[in-house]
Amino acid sequence: SKGRKHSNTKERSHEAAAGDSNIRGRKEKMGARPVQIVVAKDDHTFELDEAALQEILLQDHVKDKTVVVVSVAGAFRKGKSFLLDFFLRYLKAQGRADWMGTDEMPLDGFSWRGGSERDTTGILLWSEVFIVDLPTGEQVAVLLMDTQGAFDSESTVRDCATIFALSTMVSSVQIYNLLHNIQEDDLQHLQLFTEYGRLALEDSGTKPFQKLQFLVRDWSFPYEAEYGESGGRKILDRRLQISKKQHPELQSLRQHIRSCFSDISCFLMPHPGLKVATHPEFDGKLSDIENDFKVQLQRLIPMLLAPENLVPKEIAGQKVKAKELLQYFKSYIEIYKGDELPEPKSMLVATAEGNNLAAVAVAKDTYKHDMEEVCGGTKPYLSSAHLEAEHNRVKDKAIHQFRSKRKMGGDEFSEKYREALEKDLDEMFVQFKLHNESKNIFKAARTPAVFLSIAVV
Ligand code: GDP
Ligand code: MG
Repeated sequence: SKGRKHSNTKERSHEAAAGDSNIRGRKEKMGARPVQIVVAKDDHTFELDEAALQEILLQDHVKDKTVVVVSVAGAFRKGKSFLLDFFLRYLKAQGRADWMGTDEMPLDGFSWRGGSERDTTGILLWSEVFIVDLPTGEQVAVLLMDTQGAFDSESTVRDCATIFALSTMVSSVQIYNLLHNIQEDDLQHLQLFTEYGRLALEDSGTKPFQKLQFLVRDWSFPYEAEYGESGGRKILDRRLQISKKQHPELQSLRQHIRSCFSDISCFLMPHPGLKVATHPEFDGKLSDIENDFKVQLQRLIPMLLAPENLVPKEIAGQKVKAKELLQYFKSYIEIYKGDELPEPKSMLVATAEGNNLAAVAVAKDTYKHDMEEVCGGTKPYLSSAHLEAEHNRVKDKAIHQFRSKRKMGGDEFSEKYREALEKDLDEMFVQFKLHNESKNIFKAARTPAVFLSIAVV
């Protein structure tokens, strides 16, 4: 237990540092940690810590990669952090078969427990992004997300539904962590998605969400449904059956939920043993964990995180890059600002907005990149006619790129973003022009006669 105490001290100093955003730079050196990016405040509004999110998503080796966002959602004290620690072990081992570690080694270094965020409803991201090679050769950026709330306390049920909805919208795999069983209430959190799913499907022709993974902890009826995936399927099918006794909304939820996610599954985990469940000083030693639990972890985690099983985040059928994900977070948090849960319609509008803003950003990047090739810092001065022609060529290319990117909301909705894009490109051109001119003056200034005429003006 000495080791555990030691890591607690370390965690407290993380907390102290986290309180002061001015020393973010210093915090970085203290190693990977959970970062609270969305917090539910006392007045039930939500706040996005954009700076913290940017720091994770806009790192050079991350920002242009397709993201895989694995979220674990559910109430406090249900073993989410414990599970996430094993996710981290798996990702750090980079495919090694002995990723779980040795028997006597405590789970240390990256515990999600004990932070100041302990019982705060909100969303946390692990600060370290894992770059993984897919079998296709593509590199993706894997982000781990912890979504938690007091799902059981009346006053914050709406907060939780909100946080749950937000994390589902930004993740590609939502792991819904539940204790003992899938209950009726647990399904209610999914209700918001069925209507949104229908609208999104209509608009883009693709299912809006990817993987929903129910994860039942402490499953205690293995003789009824066996641990793991196949037992999970039995339980899930039974839960999603429609009966006349159910509330009409819950009947409709059952009818439509499968059309919102491309994949819904359930996994039944055994109890990890009394040392894990009850010992306050439990340090994660494998020898203290029941064998059944470890066997199922060995199946569950590669099923979710092995390179061939990773699910890249897609919105409207398009893969999402890290820098675009930032945009979606910003658009989505807006609709969750009010007192009420958002209407499915406004979720659709926010997604369409995110799509369009992401397409604008990509088009601007193209323009900037191509113009720099033409007239960037190290390039020689160009005549204004030549520069203008290049601007028109590159601008057309960028706008074509914007138009050809699939977006939700339709053409009319897109129109104002295209106009804004054109305006931005023209403004960028002004800067390129000025820069180009400055090269001209520099050249001219070497000639005394011209220098004189400039001085007179
Ligand atoms: P979180 O609040 O959901 O992140 O829960 P934690 O991971 O912090 O775990 C809360 C407590 O439950 C800790 O004492 C863990 O050791 C214990 N725990 C972890 N996994 C399980 C599990 O599968 N079943 C039970 N019963 N307890 C667990
Ligand atoms: Mg936790």
